[in-house]
Formats: sequence, C-alpha cells, structure tokens
Amino acid sequence: MSLHGDYDSQNIFAQIIRGDAPCYKLYEDDDVLAFLDVFPQSYGHSLVIPKRSAARNMLDIDSESLCKVMQVVQKITRALVDELQPAGVQVAQFNGAPAGQTVFHIHMHVIPRFAGEDLGIHASAKADAAELEALQARLVTRLKA
Ligand code: 5GP
Repeated sequence: MSLHGDYDSQNIFAQIIRGDAPCYKLYEDDDVLAFLDVFPQSYGHSLVIPKRSAARNMLDIDSESLCKVMQVVQKITRALVDELQPAGVQVAQFNGAPAGQTVFHIHMHVIPRFAGEDLGIHASAKADAAELEALQARLVTRLKA
C-alpha cells in the first residue's frame, strides 16, 4: 500500500472502532480509542487511534483529530511508565508499507522499552490472552487513578 489511496473501511482498526472486532481496550472517549497491541513488541505495547477520522496516515488526518490522539498518547505513556516502570518509551507511527505500516488506519504505537530488549518494529508472536487481560486490568486501573 502506498502513501496515497482510498481508506478501506474493512481494515481491522475500523472493525475495532465499530465493535465488529474485539480489543483489549485501555481508554476511550468520543474521539480516540487506545488498546493493547495483540502482537506486542514489548510488554505494554499500546496503540492509539482516532475514531472519527477515516485517515490512513499522517497526510490524511486533520490537525484537530491528530491533537486529540496525541493527548491520549501522552496519557497512555504516563500510565505505562507509572505502572510498568520501563527504562524508556518509544512513540512511533509509520506511513505506507515501505515505512513499515501494515494497518491502514492511522495509529500511534506507544512501546515501553526495557533494558536489554531488542528494538524490533514488528513482533512475530501473538500475546497470550490471559496475559493481555491481566495487563489491561492493571492499566485501566492506573488510568482511572
Ligand atoms: P503498523 O505496522 O501498521 O504500524 O502497526 C500495526 C499494528 O497493529 C502492529 O503492531 C500489529 O501487531 C497490530 N495489530 C494487527 N492486527 C491487530 C489486531 O487484530 N488487534 C490488535 N490489537 N492489534 C493488531
């Protein structure tokens, strides 16, 4: 998929927004949804997406929606740091397949980084459902604190 093209309303994140596919939700408001990545690059890897903007990437999204997404990125980053105490946090966003994008609804990755771990950009393994559920519960509690 190139940088340019039509938005596909059947992409997995559009399905999650509509409630047609499940997610491990961390936070939601009228405009933004945050949830755990099911193929995490690290423990706590989270995704933040706009709900109302049918944008594939940074070129498409309106600035107001982008600002709302970034406010939630900061909220999630703070919760991850407080709860998991990583050594660092990577905030990443890819535009177009050659840049590493695989899901064509704009999203921000928030990836806690722990000392000694590899900095891969794609994980090969799906996380264990029970582990994701337990992590979701910890982070939701932290976000409400
Ligand atoms: P991209 O490579 O497009 O920047 O990132 C897409 C991300 O979505 C990847 O980190 C991938 O693991 C994640 N992902 C793909 N399918 C699903 C899914 O069904 N649910 C969730 N929560 N994450 C997904």
